Amino acid sequence: MSARQSIFVCDASGEEEDMYALELEQVKKAFAGQDVLSGMTLKIEEGEFVVIVGPSGCGKSTLLRIIAGLEAHTSGHLRIGGELMDNVAPSKRGIGMVFQSYALYPHLNVADNMSLALKRERVPKDEIKKRIAAAADMLALNSLLGRRPSQLSGGQRQRVAIGRAIVRQPKLFLFDEPLSNLDAELRVNTRLEIAQLHRKLGATMIYVTHDQTEAMTLADKIVVMQGGVVQQVGHPKELYNDPVNLFVAGFIGSPK
Ligand code: ADP
Ligand code: MG
Repeated sequence: MSARQSIFVCDASGEEEDMYALELEQVKKAFAGQDVLSGMTLKIEEGEFVVIVGPSGCGKSTLLRIIAGLEAHTSGHLRIGGELMDNVAPSKRGIGMVFQSYALYPHLNVADNMSLALKRERVPKDEIKKRIAAAADMLALNSLLGRRPSQLSGGQRQRVAIGRAIVRQPKLFLFDEPLSNLDAELRVNTRLEIAQLHRKLGATMIYVTHDQTEAMTLADKIVVMQGGVVQQVGHPKELYNDPVNLFVAGFIGSPK
């Protein structure tokens, strides 16, 4: 479905090594001494659409926040495009994140919400204009650029949040249950828009959801999390037909 790219780099020993869009190596996170992630290891290829599923409270949002740099991990390593990111500031990670709650600034209109980060990064004005126009076209936001978030529907707000991520031209998108506040019909439409966006941009996307349909229809690869670790990674069909345990079977597999 997506354009995959395999890039090879040489490590210090001169051996060829695969470079991944994202690589987690034994990433751990504890809150107040309590393990939330107890050693997450995961490799994601460039251009892949990866869906992460798992029960509420299993650490999905924490994982995305760690990848984005909004939360520090306790130990382990994180590489984006082959570069070690453990201590790199969020704005320098080349990531666009879309939250369930949209997280728009209520006092700014749509265009300003989308351009804020670009202004901070001192992107030239003309370039900002171009990027906003392109994102507005892509997401049908042209007639809404002057409105404030309170004057938008939930679906429109989420499109603005997606637009705000797009204009930064990230290589890696993180979505944290982006559709869960939308009604059923909008959920389907927005899901299709996100799939289209993935095809168009060819960027790597990591998408957290608890919705089985979203997982099965969007994913090149599904990651099932439970108890702070990865239970299984595979193509949707693979997980459905051949779940490794009862937990995975219960979550997405056919009854075992
Ligand atoms: P999920 O997104 O899978 O529902 P979260 O990543 O939000 O799970 O949370 C995982 C666990 O970590 C939960 O038990 C939650 O209460 C805890 N947690 C998350 N953030 C914090 C925090 N800032 N301080 C303390 N505990 C937290
Ligand atoms: Mg969550």
